[in-house]
Amino acid sequence: MKIGVLALQGAVAEHLKSISSAGAEGIAIKHIEQLSEVAGLIIPGGESTTIGKLMRKYGFIEAIREFSEQGKPIFGTCAGLIVLAKDIEGSEEPHLGLMNISVSRNAFGRQRESFETDLDIKGIEQPVRAVFIRAPLISQVGEGVEVLSEYQDEIVTAREGHLLASSFHPELTDDYRLHQYFVDMVKQQSM
Ligand code: GLN
Repeated sequence: MKIGVLALQGAVAEHLKSISSAGAEGIAIKHIEQLSEVAGLIIPGGESTTIGKLMRKYGFIEAIREFSEQGKPIFGTCAGLIVLAKDIEGSEEPHLGLMNISVSRNAFGRQRESFETDLDIKGIEQPVRAVFIRAPLISQVGEGVEVLSEYQDEIVTAREGHLLASSFHPELTDDYRLHQYFVDMVKQQSM
C-alpha cells in the first residue's frame, strides 16, 4: 500500500515517518506523474498560500482533482485542510475546493498560536495528542461532512467520504493513530 505526501512545501518527512509507522509505504510526491503510483495522498501543513501557488505552477490542481474523482482518499493537515476547502473565509479563492467546508485561517489568535492538547476523535478509542501551529478551524460544514472532533466547541477534524481534514499536525508526535485511520480509509477504498 503506497501513500503519497505532497512535497512542495511543509512537513513532509514527518508524514512519511507516520505513514510507515501505520504500516504503509510513504512516497514524497514532487511531480504529478507520481500520483499514479499511490492509492492515497496527504497534503501537509506549511503555508497554504505558498502550497496553493506551487500547486498551480506544477499542474497539481487539476491532477489532484482527477485523483479525487477516482475516489482515492486525500488527507489535508493544517494548511492542507485549507487547500482542500471549498471556502476560505476572507474572500480568497479556494485552492483545490474539494471539501464541503468553510475554513478560517490562523483562527486561534496570537496567544494560542501554538499549543498541544489531547483530543477525542470519533473512530479512535483513546484521545489523540494534537499539535496546533497557527492552525485554521472549520467554521462551517456542508452536507455529507461528518465532524470527527472539536476543540473548545470549534471543529478541528472532519471527514467527507474519501476526504479527511485536521486543523492540527498529527505527524509531529509519535501518536500515529490518525494516520492509521487514513491508511484504513485507503485500504477500504482500494479493496
Ligand atoms: N497558518 C498557515 C496557513 O494559513 C497554516 C499553518 C500550518 O500549516 N501549520 O496556511
